[in-house]
Amino acid sequence: MAKVKNSCSFCGRTENEVEFMVNSHEANICENCIEKVHQMKKDEKKERASHSIAKLEVKKPKEIKEYLDQYVIGQEEAKKVLSVAVYNHYKRLNHTINVLNNSEEIELDKSNIIIVGQTGTGKTLLARTIARMLNVPFAIADATVLTEAGYVGEDVETILTRLLQAADYDVEKAERGIVFIDEIDKIARKSDNPSITRDVSGEGVQQALLKLLEGSIVHVPPQGGRKHPEQKLTAINTKNILFISAGAFNNIERTIAGRLKSNSIGFKGIKKSEDIDKENLLKYIQPQDIKKFGLIPELVGRFPVLTHLDPLNKEALIRILTEPKNAIIKQYKKLFEIDGVKLRFSSEALDYFAGKAIEYQLGARGLRGLIENVMTDLMYETPESNKKEITISQKFAKDQFERFAGKFNNIEK
Ligand code: ADP
Repeated sequence: MAKVKNSCSFCGRTENEVEFMVNSHEANICENCIEKVHQMKKDEKKERASHSIAKLEVKKPKEIKEYLDQYVIGQEEAKKVLSVAVYNHYKRLNHTINVLNNSEEIELDKSNIIIVGQTGTGKTLLARTIARMLNVPFAIADATVLTEAGYVGEDVETILTRLLQAADYDVEKAERGIVFIDEIDKIARKSDNPSITRDVSGEGVQQALLKLLEGSIVHVPPQGGRKHPEQKLTAINTKNILFISAGAFNNIERTIAGRLKSNSIGFKGIKKSEDIDKENLLKYIQPQDIKKFGLIPELVGRFPVLTHLDPLNKEALIRILTEPKNAIIKQYKKLFEIDGVKLRFSSEALDYFAGKAIEYQLGARGLRGLIENVMTDLMYETPESNKKEITISQKFAKDQFERFAGKFNNIEK
């Protein structure tokens, strides 16, 4: 096609009629048409966003909690807090569309969450269970591998790379996802007072994280890492991404106890020290405690919701063995059932397993390893025996356990 000189190929206006015209070899476009195309693109984007968000099935907090109840034992407060947070996250996403369409609407701020709880009490399990239920992209990151830019390790931006990957590289989808940052306590600086001991690395990572949490445009390497320096960066707006972080915050109970002692009125109207549940001080945790632990105030301020997980006692461990939808005991029963064998566990045996998990300070994390070892011989022999029913007694559990107890001493806690 011959080049059409001096007039817009779309609306026909001549160069004299407009202030600006882009000329190419085969066509011209005037400023009005550029503006129009730009607007069309924006409208189409908005339309697509509202369409895909409208498709989000918004679950009510009680429904979310009921789902969590099927997999996570106890931890009532954390489950409730997370259910509300996730529900609000969906609401905010839907509301964002209204704000886009109507500048008078009030913008809803998000409430990032910190979960504090001993190791093996269900922090990751909660995050994974939520992820399974949701239809927004979800990524899990480990704070211990993060470093400031320029150091060996992963840049903070790679957290968003994971989210982008979980969203199949759909930036809009990633921009309304949820990120779970585990072991946030491991990037604490070593002292509450930066002028006494400076732990630059931890604090530097916190500062870098702050940028993600502040709701800014972050440039992310889509393939992650620094191995592909030539890759084009993708811009991601973190404004609507929900951040949930978790950590064991070892020994933070001491800080909480100190605070409760020095303030006899205490938290939640506790008047007398006898009223304090000394077995579970985490339930009195406040933002100032994690600040004292070494998270910088700006970061703490970006996590307005602080919740805790309860330590798991024997009763909770027995429930974990038997009740969740995919409980360990249910899984073993199924494995034996496939061989035509009915497997039972005596309640004394369950009590024994829970007791050993506590004795070895393994929490729920150790239960599977423990039972796996107790069951190995039986699983080896049963397929060739003609037994139709087997009951695991406490004596059997104890005898088997004692054969590998030495090995168990070295198990990773
Ligand atoms: P952490 O708090 O260290 O992240 P995890 O969530 O990884 O602990 O828990 C380790 C394992 O222990 C889980 O895979 C799960 O099987 C079990 N577990 C821990 N807490 C619970 C719980 N409250 N309810 C059910 N299972 C649990």
